[in-house]
Amino acid sequence: MQKSILIIYTGGTIGMITTPDKNSLTPFNFEEIRKHVPEIEKYGHKFSAYTIHPAVDSSNIKPESWIKIAELIEKTYDEYDGFIVLHGTDTMSFSASALSFMLEGLGKPVIFTGSQLPVTSLRTDARENLIAAIEIAAAEKDGAPLIPEVCIYFEFKLLRGNRCTKYSAEDFNAFISPNYPALAESGVRLKYHLHRVQKLAKDKQFKVHTKLDNNIAILKIFPGISEHVLDAVLGTKGLKAIILETFGAGNAPTDSWFFEKINAANEAGVVFLNISQCSEGSVEMGRYETSEHLIKAGVASGFDSTPEAAITKLMFLLGQELPPSEIKLLLNKSMNGEITIS
Ligand code: ASP
Repeated sequence: MQKSILIIYTGGTIGMITTPDKNSLTPFNFEEIRKHVPEIEKYGHKFSAYTIHPAVDSSNIKPESWIKIAELIEKTYDEYDGFIVLHGTDTMSFSASALSFMLEGLGKPVIFTGSQLPVTSLRTDARENLIAAIEIAAAEKDGAPLIPEVCIYFEFKLLRGNRCTKYSAEDFNAFISPNYPALAESGVRLKYHLHRVQKLAKDKQFKVHTKLDNNIAILKIFPGISEHVLDAVLGTKGLKAIILETFGAGNAPTDSWFFEKINAANEAGVVFLNISQCSEGSVEMGRYETSEHLIKAGVASGFDSTPEAAITKLMFLLGQELPPSEIKLLLNKSMNGEITIS
């Protein structure tokens, strides 16, 4: 059945060309991509394309870019059956995570994809990624979309957007979803694992949130971290939340200065969220003595969150201007399948 699909182009390697004078890659335009993947027309779907200007290397993606994408999806939501976001791989998992929170009650597929090699390159991975992403964005069963979620399709795998991390700058297989299995895999056929896909809440209205607050910091703990480093972060003007990237199951040094400073900042209204430096597994505060003081200091658990999901969830929650106590309650809940709460 013919579907209508909006392809949103934000930039990234997929559409980059070599700038002759500099010999470096810069984003080009969507028409070039379309010219190089003429096969997509064979699906018989109705495609429209929209470029978020300016097309950028995704290292230049900002919350403002996410707002533009969210507003575009909101404006065109009734016109299209599915959305594809062509995006650079460097920050794709941040953007997919952010959009998963901003598009509340999403009932249609929003599939991010891109490539490690430009579409103009002979060995490009862009072709397979784009073609499969289109097939997924158009997939339906009994008239309902199969994947009403924000996802990343890359190198034969469909992953939940807010569970992904870019882990390879080298391999075509650039993304992992360490704590949640793939929603679909592409082989001879596209094999969907529908029991892993979020269920469409019938009563939930589609609502787009465009307020994000970036007054947050992420502090990676390391053996020997000094008091001055913590002071510098805590002294950041306007800071409302800090993600502590801790060891193992959420452990950190037990020095009294570390506890006292975090405790005082927490009492002053700063939200602390504990995520692990390990990509696999979950924070479990209280399992070791080295995390008990964090509970006492009011630090919330980030469970098995990726850093990308933790950062964008906090930006989203702070953007709602909720009091710290309510933000902590929501950090303890899975809003869109971003954490596993057992
Ligand atoms: N630097 C590029 C970007 O993220 C890398 C890529 O697209 O793979 O935009």
